[in-house]
Amino acid sequence: MTAVLPETPAVDRDGVPHYRLFIDGVWVDTDTSIPVVDPATEETVVTVAVAATEHVDAAVAAAERVHESGIWRNTPPAERAAVIDRVIAAVSMRMDELAVLSAKETGMPLRVAGAIGVGFPLVHMGHYAQLTRTYEWERSGPVTGQVLSASFIRKEPVGVCAGIVPWNFPALIAVWKSIPALAAGNTVVLKTDEKTPIFALELGALLRDAGLPDGAYNVVVGDGPNIGGRLVEHPDVRLVSFTGSTATGRQVMAAAASNVKRVVLELGGKGPNIVLDDADLDAAVDGSIYAFLLHAGQACESGTRLLLPSAIHDRFVARLVKRLRTLKQGDPLDPATDIGAVMNKAQRDRILGYIEKGKAEGATVVVGGGVPTGPEFEKGFWVEPTVFTGVTNDMAIAREEIFGPVLAVLKYDSTEEAIKIANDTEYGLSAAVWSRDNQRALDIARQLEAGSVWINDFHNISQYLPFGGFKQSGTGRELGPDALDEFTQDKGITVDLSGDVSRRAYGLVLGTPPSAE
Ligand code: NAD
Repeated sequence: MTAVLPETPAVDRDGVPHYRLFIDGVWVDTDTSIPVVDPATEETVVTVAVAATEHVDAAVAAAERVHESGIWRNTPPAERAAVIDRVIAAVSMRMDELAVLSAKETGMPLRVAGAIGVGFPLVHMGHYAQLTRTYEWERSGPVTGQVLSASFIRKEPVGVCAGIVPWNFPALIAVWKSIPALAAGNTVVLKTDEKTPIFALELGALLRDAGLPDGAYNVVVGDGPNIGGRLVEHPDVRLVSFTGSTATGRQVMAAAASNVKRVVLELGGKGPNIVLDDADLDAAVDGSIYAFLLHAGQACESGTRLLLPSAIHDRFVARLVKRLRTLKQGDPLDPATDIGAVMNKAQRDRILGYIEKGKAEGATVVVGGGVPTGPEFEKGFWVEPTVFTGVTNDMAIAREEIFGPVLAVLKYDSTEEAIKIANDTEYGLSAAVWSRDNQRALDIARQLEAGSVWINDFHNISQYLPFGGFKQSGTGRELGPDALDEFTQDKGITVDLSGDVSRRAYGLVLGTPPSAE
């Protein structure tokens, strides 16, 4: 394992930036390097070193050493928050550059990359810094008088936390996995998806420059089963926070049982988006498009099942299709672009496979249904925004997460039926209700089985609210007022103040103490 320590995470290699792993505060090159490919152009954005299992072991060993040393966990919370503040200041200086890198790495339009690739990470880091300052790290428990004792409840770090990050929102999810863990005094090994490693590695330099001890934050880049798998099985890892598909989440949960690791799982979704007959139709049409089309549908909380009352179905669909036709798909770096590319060939082919399945199941494509044509789309991986009508909730396109720009429209005839269809899924991440009657919408929202429910909105993931799934969309929560709870463990300490052995419970074992002679 060769380690070098230049200032920046990337070095120039034949005119292309080359990123290395970040282990124990240094950049580590490996024998294998792969290109990070722009989904819109198929050009190499950067290259990145890929880890072997020995690198995972080295990263965990560094994180474990720092945890044991106490250098970070004993740093006062206000100083830990100050480290996060310095990262925020440094990212703020580089917003434009990081947004472009994010757009090139993920295929998101620049507008979206600016918001989700940089803006949200900044805001969410600010939330974690604030929580770190106000969190009740230690509070008093009961003081008892019968046998005089005092007690405390302490929130302590868990130890080495593994964060596993998918490719769809790599910067934001890298922040969710690492910053609250570090804020709580843990050490971190992050595994990023090898297709989208840039922000997590940049964060290594930012945290180091902000004063985080070497080894407290480490990044390995590599494939899921070997590199992610090694991390999840590693006996010194105490907690795994995983974001990805439900299928992989199940494997992670099973593997984490080996040494009873804590797990936070943020998994897939099939969000129902219910329009009521009294909705503001302009708002609901735009909102329904936003719900399924953000990042070309590659968002776990997307609203991919649109539930329309039969009475307004045809009118609503006509308006939705008309509005969709005004959107511009193409070059993510063009500020006028609304819809970008999908991640890679495998993802495109998977989405197209679902579109074929939808047709075969008897649903009707009312717009889209294939790959857009024209010179802009000769390179890269593209799928047209696609809307199916005539969908029933038993079809694969209504049940399975497609993770692409595909909307399934379902009809309903009563509110009860809408709620039943909405909840008839193994997923439970997100849902929305559109109505002019807030009380009516709220009554429905209460009955929806989902971790996030929006009324007259979608994708509004607030740092002030917990985010996570019901049912097979996951377990545990990110963000919200209790975000640090996931990364701490409670310790109760009792101090006997009585000075009177005879009053304690020792007699349960020792019987009546012999009289003093
Ligand atoms: P994925 O499950 O294939 O991979 C996610 C991450 O896990 C990647 O880094 C991958 O390398 C790693 N991985 C794969 N197999 C592993 C294993 N056996 N052990 C450990 N790690 C392993 O998912 P994906 O295709 O990268 O991402 C898309 C999925 O993520 C979708 O299902 C989407 O809904 C979900 N997602 C959920 C949220 C959420 O917050 N709920 C957010 C974003 C994405």
